[in-house]
Amino acid sequence: MRRRSFLKGVVASGLPFVLPHVPLAAGSGRSVMRRVRPPDPQWPSAASWAKLSAAVGGNLIRPQALFAACQMNPNGVACADVLENMRNPFYIGDQPGGTEVSGWLDAWTPAPSEYAIRARNAADVAAGVDFAREHNLRLVVKGGGHSYLGTSNAPDSLLIWTRAMNKVWLHDAFVGQGCEGRVAAVPAVTAEAGALWIDLYHATTTEAGRYVQGGGCTSVGVAGLVQSGGFGSFSKGFGTAAAGLLEAELVTADGRVRIANACTNPDLFWTLKGGGGGSFGIVTRLTLRTHALPEFFGFAGGQIKAHSDVAFRELIARFIEFYRDNLLNPHWGEQVRLRPDNTLELSMVCQGLDDATITRLWQPFLNWVRGSTDLEASDITTGARPARSWWDVVARKKRGSHAMISDTRPGAPESHAWWSGDQDQVGAFLHGYDSLWLPAALLQGDKPRRLVDALFAASRHKKLEMHFNKGIAGAPEEAIARTRDTATNPAVAEAFVLVIIADGERPAYPGLARPAMDAAAARTNADEIDRAAAALRTVAPNAGSYVSESNYFNASWQKAYWGTHYEKLRAIKKKYDPDGLFIVHHGVGSEDWSADGFTRLK
Ligand SMILES: Cc1cc2nc3c(=O)[nH]c(=O)nc-3n(C[C@H](O)[C@H](O)[C@H](O)COP(=O)(O)OP(=O)(O)OC[C@H]3O[C@@H](n4cnc5c(N)ncnc54)[C@H](O)[C@@H]3O)c2cc1C
Repeated sequence: MRRRSFLKGVVASGLPFVLPHVPLAAGSGRSVMRRVRPPDPQWPSAASWAKLSAAVGGNLIRPQALFAACQMNPNGVACADVLENMRNPFYIGDQPGGTEVSGWLDAWTPAPSEYAIRARNAADVAAGVDFAREHNLRLVVKGGGHSYLGTSNAPDSLLIWTRAMNKVWLHDAFVGQGCEGRVAAVPAVTAEAGALWIDLYHATTTEAGRYVQGGGCTSVGVAGLVQSGGFGSFSKGFGTAAAGLLEAELVTADGRVRIANACTNPDLFWTLKGGGGGSFGIVTRLTLRTHALPEFFGFAGGQIKAHSDVAFRELIARFIEFYRDNLLNPHWGEQVRLRPDNTLELSMVCQGLDDATITRLWQPFLNWVRGSTDLEASDITTGARPARSWWDVVARKKRGSHAMISDTRPGAPESHAWWSGDQDQVGAFLHGYDSLWLPAALLQGDKPRRLVDALFAASRHKKLEMHFNKGIAGAPEEAIARTRDTATNPAVAEAFVLVIIADGERPAYPGLARPAMDAAAARTNADEIDRAAAALRTVAPNAGSYVSESNYFNASWQKAYWGTHYEKLRAIKKKYDPDGLFIVHHGVGSEDWSADGFTRLK
């Protein structure tokens, strides 16, 4: 009540409508900052928005929810368009109100911002940052829109949307600004912040025959993934994506366009390497190291079904031993999945090995499987292909491969395609999600027995996805050293695997007509994920978790995501963003804010 009458007084007096601090309680000595939202009287006037629009060349837009058209007219052309494209991640990423996942039970629901700037360059971004700061608005940033945790999405906010900034170019010899004469030039690739990983792979590998370490999912945004740390299929060979960052341009909370690299603003540079997206500023472009392209990328896939629990436990034990002795090295990444129905799914990839070597390597394990009457193997394939054609969508199509699905919208680049294995994630509604880094020490001495027990016990509750490329133990020393020089939890360098446990259901975007959700069953499903994670914690009680593929409800997120790096990250955040303009769920400094990011608590 007191606050409302104070607001009325401000409006009546015609004072400027910035109201950063409101007393929390008489005599408490504390104050609370509350960001403005419509219909607060301090919400910017139409004239202010018009001025901002002019400053960004007319690129101020009113985003709509993805299915707004269907709510307005279920039989209209616009609704038919979104229904036709809702399984296409590139289409979703091209919508200002689009989110790759359609929400998370009891966590977050997609909601469009009030306004969005479709940024063309750093100047547009700076105009938006200045406007949000001066008008005390909640600010959000979106690139590829692939946040599981919903951190590029907030109602009543101003969105800076970088998707239209997507140029990519290569350098033969790159030296960061201010590093001249101090750091050797290296081959590199620069991408604007709204580029997607397939854009970098196309330019770097398909066109130029080099390699850049990025993400696995082709439609993930480059800036969001690098700030996560970021893993691709071959990270075991090259370290995290963040470890390859050479320089970034970003706009900080004061509206300044800054360069961050090892020589200029090195503290800020370090935070961008895994400190989490949307917390330190808005990245407008990034430059990443490129590497010589290995001659081959290869794979080992298939399914092995055990006919009993005993046989499945034995299968897990044999695989772990085989992995430790043959695959824990820079070559091998991606996944093995352990399913509650006693099936082990192989979906491994490798770099730098030819066909014959891969076949020879897997033979002893596969021979043992085939020789067992308790196991049944199906669809087992191993092999290698020239690495240069890995992301070559056109070449893949020509040889009849169905591994990638193309964006067939008119005008879409031919290179835009996604892995068919990622299809189920497009639009998924999450019931639960968790991830744990398991230390490589668990593979030594008598520990594998306990590890196998824990994996088996966890697999009784849920399918476990063992992402070997998302733990850096086993990588070349140089890649480990570069990964250690990032903000990611140091546990990543000790871990041989990141285990992901997740489940959900078909798309549930607000406004999408679909059968009602069984919330009770969904919560039971989420509980099973928690039980599976608890079973793994019996062998890794202090396991860290990957910031961008993690549990929304993790109460120890600071320690889990960043470990001993957290206090340093918080100090740098205070230096560059003292008033918390950049706040995301479980991002650095977010403990000072209410869950919706609108009210400062301390
Ligand atoms: C289907 C799917 C597959 C995935 N696959 C992988 C994978 O293979 N490997 C992996 O490591 N991770 C993967 N992830 C996780 C992914 O890397 C992160 O969620 C990443 O942050 C997404 O970036 P984005 O730009 O696409 O998403 P957005 O939702 O746009 O952004 C994610 C976060 O980064 C912030 N952000 C975005 N752009 C900027 C910018 N320019 N400046 C500052 N902050 C910014 C946003 O505010 C938000 O907090 C996957 C996620 C999904 C949904």
